[in-house]
Amino acid sequence: MEDLDGRWRDLNRLLARPGNIVGPGFEPQDEWIEFLQHQVRVLCVGAGGLGCELLKDLALSGFGNIDVIDLDTIDVSNLNRQFLFRMKDVGKSKAKVAAERVMERVQGVTVTPHFCRIEEKDRDFYEEFHLILLGLDSLEARRYMNQIACSFLEFDEDGKPDLSTIKPMIDGGTEGLKGHARVILPGITPCFDCTLWLFPPQTKFPLCTLAETPRSPAHCIEYVHLIQWPQEKGGEEFDSDDDTHMQWVYQQALKRAQQYGIQGVTLQLTQGVVKNIIPAIASTNAVVAAACTLEALKLVTLCSTGMNNYMMYVGTDGIYTHTAQYERDTQCLVCGAGVPMQVSPTATLQEVIDTLKESPALGGRHLRRPSISSGSSNLYMHGPLEESTRPNLRKTISSLVDGDGSILQVNDPGLAGPMRVSLQFRQS
Ligand SMILES: [Zn+2]
Repeated sequence: MEDLDGRWRDLNRLLARPGNIVGPGFEPQDEWIEFLQHQVRVLCVGAGGLGCELLKDLALSGFGNIDVIDLDTIDVSNLNRQFLFRMKDVGKSKAKVAAERVMERVQGVTVTPHFCRIEEKDRDFYEEFHLILLGLDSLEARRYMNQIACSFLEFDEDGKPDLSTIKPMIDGGTEGLKGHARVILPGITPCFDCTLWLFPPQTKFPLCTLAETPRSPAHCIEYVHLIQWPQEKGGEEFDSDDDTHMQWVYQQALKRAQQYGIQGVTLQLTQGVVKNIIPAIASTNAVVAAACTLEALKLVTLCSTGMNNYMMYVGTDGIYTHTAQYERDTQCLVCGAGVPMQVSPTATLQEVIDTLKESPALGGRHLRRPSISSGSSNLYMHGPLEESTRPNLRKTISSLVDGDGSILQVNDPGLAGPMRVSLQFRQS
């Protein structure tokens, strides 16, 4: 075995010495390395552009037990930035190859891959981890993980979050030359759903601009894609994976651009605009992953105060960063203490569900197929568990939950995320 004496020298400068920028309660000691190597379990969600960077940074920062989950396989177009992968890996699981590569290069680290969708793992799986890092590219996946992390949060009778139930999450995201890193401590800092406005809906170009006053190559491409194709191709559905379709749009967009004296329509840009692809930049991933990993180290060891709570990075014109302290939405359905609902302890679960459907707390939203759980027990679920949970509908609510103040978690296709209901028993 290689002599690795001194490999943690730089980390020890942070962890084994006192300092005046350390976090509250930080205790400098040599044992931090041991703790990071053997006790802390972190989960990295995603093994793509950000995920590869995160895994490398975590392993080199002393984290010794890392799990990684990703359902994707390696594509040749990933190789310019997803540096853990080689040509011979094309077609294989990103999670598996990334785990192997990191273990080959960083001695003593264990990376456990999970080649599946995040939805395939149950709540117990996620509960195992002290910390979850997100290297994802979709809002849906982030919201799903957010719901999971927030579902562990418990509140005391005064509605104050129980700090021991906080599942910290660190999220990185990049879009071309821009990126962000944020720290989510459910109950303390805003969760995803508190700040959904940070993710505005995709703004498309106004149709009148496309038709009347195109000013950019993208305008010409979108015009052909959205207006000219349906007009000239009759009922034929546009298929962005069909090369002849893409070529047609490209050629027509080129003609239109020439008419208006616009430069810059290329086949690659046509594919990008039509498929709404934003180019991924390796260095943006590196910057954001480094910020996320540093926050992970700070959270676990308290070697410095953590980021509070959202850092944006803009690399378009020079380099600009700004850290904003966003605030929680106290009405948030995902990380809030839950809407109170009065019920009789002798009411059946079915009656509770019926009351819930009428509840003004829903603010006019309608529950369609509510699934109800409390803590880790499923009280009534739609889908595969329907049959086994159906008998609960006739049981009294007080026999199914811990007691007054119990939190019900309600999932329904009519809600954006799970809703927490705090049961208040009244005698009838
Ligand atoms: Zn929230």
